Amino acid sequence: MGEGYFKQRNGLYVLDVMGACGLMTGEQFRGLAAAVAELGVPAVKLTTRQTVVLLVPEEKAAALKAAVESLGLRVAPYHNVVRPVMACPGSADLCPRALGNALALGQALQERYTGQEVPKDFKISVAGCPRGCTEPYCADFGVVAAGGETYNVAIGGFGGSSRPRHGELIARRVPRDAVFAILDHVLERYRALAQPREKLGRAVERLGLEAFLPPAQLLRPAEEPDPVLLELKAFLGAPE
Ligand code: SF4
Repeated sequence: MGEGYFKQRNGLYVLDVMGACGLMTGEQFRGLAAAVAELGVPAVKLTTRQTVVLLVPEEKAAALKAAVESLGLRVAPYHNVVRPVMACPGSADLCPRALGNALALGQALQERYTGQEVPKDFKISVAGCPRGCTEPYCADFGVVAAGGETYNVAIGGFGGSSRPRHGELIARRVPRDAVFAILDHVLERYRALAQPREKLGRAVERLGLEAFLPPAQLLRPAEEPDPVLLELKAFLGAPE
């Protein structure tokens, strides 16, 4: 597994730092700021994947990496692995539109899967509602909260190409646990069926979506009632 820690063509070292789906504590931010000042880091960049890229002269790179790790932050895994998970702040505390706790789910997915080897880089995005601020349909594995701790799942999306691809919905309103089981299955099929360095979406185009679908019982919707319908019924005074 590679790391987001390497020399660039301009001679500077790049260090790609991941928090808990973009979340860092005040102490970690303060520690990063102190290391940046002390080691003369010339540039700090927030990435679209919710990581922080630091550029540093070669002779200071090892000290910077040690400083980052001492703060409990990780250098992001790189190359053909499951990348850091992108999750929106969707949760009851942080976004009023949230239909589920996208942030907690994203953090749990990141904890379990990030760094696992796969045929080509594999991106996971979790959104707390259909607005999809984290662009779940542009990810290899996209999750969208659907209310009542249920989630919709799409696979095979990606950008970063002259021929980007929209993910295809494979599960609607499945319970939280099923998201992990579906991802286990998709990753297993992807490793078994894809050619070296083939994106999941291209493998889906070549072999068909069916080849990657989990067994029907994993795709069965949860039985909780739709909270939007419940809200509507409550507004209309109808029985549940
Ligand atoms: S996707 Fe929905 S829940 Fe998440 S930040 Fe955007 S609006 Fe909020």
